[in-house]
Amino acid sequence: MSVVTRFAPSPTGYLHVGGARTALYSWLYAKSQGGEFVLRIEDTDIERSTEEAKQAILDGMQWLGLSWDKGPYLQTERFDRYKELIERLLEEGKAYKCFMSSQELDEIREQQKARGEKPRYPGTWRDRTDHPEGESYAVRFKNPLDGKVVINDHIRGTIEISNSELDDLVIQRSDGTPTYNFCVVVDDWDMGITHVVRGEDHINNTPRQINILQALGAPVPEYAHVSMILGDDGKKLSKRHNAVSVMQYRDDGFLPQALLNYLVRLGWAHGDQEIFSLSEMIEHFSLDAIGQSASAFNTEKLIWLNQHYMKTMPASEVAVFAKWHFAEQGIDTANGPTLENVIAIQADRVKTLKEMAQISRYFFEDFDEFDEKAAKKHLRPVAKEPLLVVKDKLLALETWTPETIGEAINATAEALGVGMGKIGMPLRVAVTGSGNSPSLDVTLNLLSKQKVEQRIDKAVSFIANRENS
Ligand code: GLU
Repeated sequence: MSVVTRFAPSPTGYLHVGGARTALYSWLYAKSQGGEFVLRIEDTDIERSTEEAKQAILDGMQWLGLSWDKGPYLQTERFDRYKELIERLLEEGKAYKCFMSSQELDEIREQQKARGEKPRYPGTWRDRTDHPEGESYAVRFKNPLDGKVVINDHIRGTIEISNSELDDLVIQRSDGTPTYNFCVVVDDWDMGITHVVRGEDHINNTPRQINILQALGAPVPEYAHVSMILGDDGKKLSKRHNAVSVMQYRDDGFLPQALLNYLVRLGWAHGDQEIFSLSEMIEHFSLDAIGQSASAFNTEKLIWLNQHYMKTMPASEVAVFAKWHFAEQGIDTANGPTLENVIAIQADRVKTLKEMAQISRYFFEDFDEFDEKAAKKHLRPVAKEPLLVVKDKLLALETWTPETIGEAINATAEALGVGMGKIGMPLRVAVTGSGNSPSLDVTLNLLSKQKVEQRIDKAVSFIANRENS
C-alpha cells in the first residue's frame, strides 16, 4: 500500500507554526515512505474562509518548501460529490431526514442540560416515515447504536469510544450544504488518504468520521493526532505570542531551514540529535516517535538554529532568502559585491537575515554620515595621517585581495611606528561608517579600490571640517 498523507487547513487565517508543524510531520511521513502528500483547502465555512487566507497558507507552505504532490483541492469545488454521497446514504437507509426545528432542538438541549445530561440529539426522526410535505430538513447520519469505535492512534495509543456516546450527526444542513465532518470523510476517501496526521483538537471528530467511512464502505485511514504548541509562558500558542504566523518568521529574518528544523524537534526526537537536514529528517522520521505532551515554543533555540544555518548552509542558498531582506530594506544589491560574499563574512555576526541586511548596507550604498560615537573616537585629527598613508599603500596595490590589503595595512603601521588600532579603527569607520565590521582585509576586499579611496577621502575631509569648526 502506498502512503498518501494530507494537510487540510481551513483558510480562515495565516499559516501558523502549529499548522506548519502538522504539515511538516504529514509531509515528512509521506516522503519517508516514498508516498504522496496532498494539500486540501477546507473552505466550506464560507463566512470565515477568505481568498487572502488561502493565499497566505499557500505562501507559507511554499516558503517552507513543503511542496504538495496533489492539490490544492478546494472543498467548495466538490459539493456535487458530497451531495451525491449524501443521497446514496439516504437511499441505503444509512442517513435520514430530520425535520426538527432549531427551536425544538434548543428546547430539548436545555432540558437535557437542566437534568445534568450531555446535550445530544435524541434520534427523534431516525425511524420516522411521516415526513411533512415541503418542509425543510437536515440530513443526519445514522450512527451505530451499540458497539464502540477503536482508534489506534500513532501518537496517543488506543482510544475507545462507545457508540452510545455519539448522537446522529447532521451531515447536510437545512440549507442543503454538507457539514464539515462529512466533507473531510469523503475527501480522505476520494483522495486515497492512508494516514491522517492532524491536530489533537480533531480527536473528538475521529470516531464519528470512522463511522461515516464505514457506512460508505471506505477504508479507514491510520491516525496520528499531534499535540498543541504552547507559548514561552506555557499557554496555548496564539496571536498574543507575537510571531505565530510562519510568514512573520520570514519577515523577522529566519531561514525556512531553521524553522523546519526547529519545528521537527518540537515534539519529535531521534536520539539527542538537534540538527537535521531535510534528508536526515526524511530518513529518520516516524509517526510513532512523536511525543504526546504539548511542547513549549522556545525562541532562543530557534535563533540558535537560525545562526547555525546561516553559517553552515552554502552562502549561495542563504543568498536566495537574504535577497528578499535586502530588497525589503530598500538596499539595491545590483552594485557591489555578491550577496554570497557578504554572507560569507557577515553570517557569524548576526542572529537573523534581517540584521544581516541592516549591517551590510555600506557594501552597496555610500553614506554621508558616520556613526557619531565611532567618529568622535576614531576620526580625530591624529587619524588623518594614518588614513592618507594607508590610502596610498592601498592604491598602490596591483592585486586587490585580502592578503595584499592586510599587508598594506600592516606596512602602514610599521612605517608610522604605531599600533594596528591607530590605523585599523579610523580606516574601519571611514569605509563602513561605524566601528563594527568583519576584519578589514575581507571587508575592504569586497569594496572596490575606488570606493575605498573615495570613502577615505571623505573621512579625511570630515576630520578637516571638524578641525576648522
Ligand atoms: N480543516 C481542519 C483544520 O484546519 C483540519 C481537518 C483535518 O485535518 O482533518 O483544523
